[in-house]
Amino acid sequence: MKLTILGCYAATPRTMTNPTSQVLEIKNHMFLIDCGEGTQVQLRKNRIKFSRINHIFISHLHGDHFFGLPGLVSTFRLLGRDKDLHIYGPKGIKEAITLLMKLGDSWTNYQLTFHELTSKNSEIVFEDDKVSVATIPLKHRVYTNGFLFREKLGERKLNIEAVAKYQIGKAHFRNIKQGTDVLLEDGTMVSNKKLTFDPPKPKSYAYCSDTGYKPDIVDQIKNVDVLYHESTFLESEALLAPKTKHCTAKEAAAIANAADVGTLILGHYSTRYKSIAPFKGEAQDIFANVELADDGKVFEF
Ligand SMILES: [Zn+2]
Ligand SMILES: [Zn+2]
Repeated sequence: MKLTILGCYAATPRTMTNPTSQVLEIKNHMFLIDCGEGTQVQLRKNRIKFSRINHIFISHLHGDHFFGLPGLVSTFRLLGRDKDLHIYGPKGIKEAITLLMKLGDSWTNYQLTFHELTSKNSEIVFEDDKVSVATIPLKHRVYTNGFLFREKLGERKLNIEAVAKYQIGKAHFRNIKQGTDVLLEDGTMVSNKKLTFDPPKPKSYAYCSDTGYKPDIVDQIKNVDVLYHESTFLESEALLAPKTKHCTAKEAAAIANAADVGTLILGHYSTRYKSIAPFKGEAQDIFANVELADDGKVFEF
């Protein structure tokens, strides 16, 4: 997986920082997660092809997470898009986007499908043979979901040398990759284990922004490879976190620690702070493997 941070700051766009948006490359998909103002420019700066984005996941309807969406939907039309576009987000998102299009008398020339979310429980919102995406219900001032992206276990890998040794023909390869044993012409059975290697371990990524401290998400995100968790505040502003339903760096680290994740990426920093470095220090008091998101930063895992 490859995660490109397009923006990871709270509230307002500034000259050097952008509100929330990121792109997750997983298997053959480019998923856009949230779409704050400036997302289009950030996509261009990071050389991400607009045409590769077919699914957009919106956590909630605060401006710093979706004000870039009407512009992007409109640009897709100007670029001559003809592929379907799927948008997943809270109920109301369809009305918001289509009202803007209606007022400007502009419609898309591609199929635009909204998948409006209302459930307070986790649900699978996207699934194919390689990937699944489930919501992570969060605790914020408006209805909000994080998203859990999981690769599925792939086919077994063919051991070319072993296959050659037993002179097994190509016609068997498809079945072998799916785990079947092979009966040779002389009547001996060759077990699948001798002919294949284990497939790579499927990776997982959890995106949790925005949210107040919500320990009950721990079960759902247990052992994920990477957790992106909002950390709007440092300890000096800890009192503001529950009031605004956001988290401190320490609270994000407590979630990462309890869920025993591989890596914690912090983001959604309040723009009041001159430096984001202290976020890492405060989180590392509780959880060691902390990375700081920043606009344009790429994480591969
Ligand atoms: Zn936000
Ligand atoms: Zn918010």
